[in-house]
Amino acid sequence: MYRIILHVDMDSFFASVEQCKNPDLRGLAVVVGSDPKQGKGRGVVSTCSYKARSFGIHSGMPISRAYRLCQDAVFLPVNMPLYQEVSCRIMKILRSFTDKFQQVSVDEAFLDISDRAQDYKEAVQLAGQIKSMIRGREELTCSIGIAPVKSVAKIASDLNKPDGMTVVEPDNVVKFLKPLNVRKLSGIGKKHEEILTGMGIDTLGQLACFDKDKLIEIFGKWGSKMQRLALGLDDSEVKESLEIGSVSREHTFDKDTDDPVVLIKTLDMISEKVHKSLVHKGYSFSTVSVKVRFEDFTTFTRAKTLSFSSQDQDIIKRVSNELSSKFFNKRKIRLLGIKLSNLKKSKMIQTTFDYFL
Ligand SMILES: [Mg+2]
Repeated sequence: MYRIILHVDMDSFFASVEQCKNPDLRGLAVVVGSDPKQGKGRGVVSTCSYKARSFGIHSGMPISRAYRLCQDAVFLPVNMPLYQEVSCRIMKILRSFTDKFQQVSVDEAFLDISDRAQDYKEAVQLAGQIKSMIRGREELTCSIGIAPVKSVAKIASDLNKPDGMTVVEPDNVVKFLKPLNVRKLSGIGKKHEEILTGMGIDTLGQLACFDKDKLIEIFGKWGSKMQRLALGLDDSEVKESLEIGSVSREHTFDKDTDDPVVLIKTLDMISEKVHKSLVHKGYSFSTVSVKVRFEDFTTFTRAKTLSFSSQDQDIIKRVSNELSSKFFNKRKIRLLGIKLSNLKKSKMIQTTFDYFL
């Protein structure tokens, strides 16, 4: 028996929530990002409205470049508490459709509705209900992919944005994947794409029939996994994970710097911010990652995982210092960031401790 899996992805979520809050922004080029300063800031675009996209603006782009592409755009700072609040309500709606539910990020989730829908026709009806419920309650649109496996559902949800619905029935999976660019597969980034292109592989169809041993030789285990995914083979289950994403904070300097005193002071300031957010959400972490971006935009990340879960601010400071100090005294630094992941609800940690005491 095949499964029926939905991947629900909100459309330009941050920007759309801002437009909901302030309807005057509807139809305008809205750019949400770090350190926007009306387009004069030094941060990066996190999400932008579809109008903004029509000017060539996209996420990950420096705010300054977005400003050059569209000076009339409205630049807004990231208001995470607001997006979290809306996200909670949307996830509650999605949860009401199935027990097999997996939230992937603030605006994305998988639903296994095999028990709820007889066939793909019914699945489309359910997906329609989900869309209209979200639109009715939150005035937001989402795009939905429907497929027998998670990886294909995820690709499908991205194909007809915004407000799209793409159905890939089991018999159609191979045909559907064949012409798509390898980048469509989540897990294949820019670097892997370059390597694959060098091997003459541009599409998932070409990846699917490439010499498997050669792929393993170059990519290791991931080589055979990516080939399986290119064939639409993915047995991963839709299941709620205990891990709840991550919390992170970044700081872009007004002026690039290599002054160690400024760098360490800034790192401490970010530690405090990220710690505050962690405690506010009631989580503990076991992984600390740092991000260092140099003046030429080359970016490095380093991570360390502890053997225990913690809420200790001093640990965040110490580990982030240790991880990033290797990058000091090299070139001028533009941005520093800290991310805490492998999060657990701290109540659960408490219980574990009680148990061992
Ligand atoms: Mg989205």
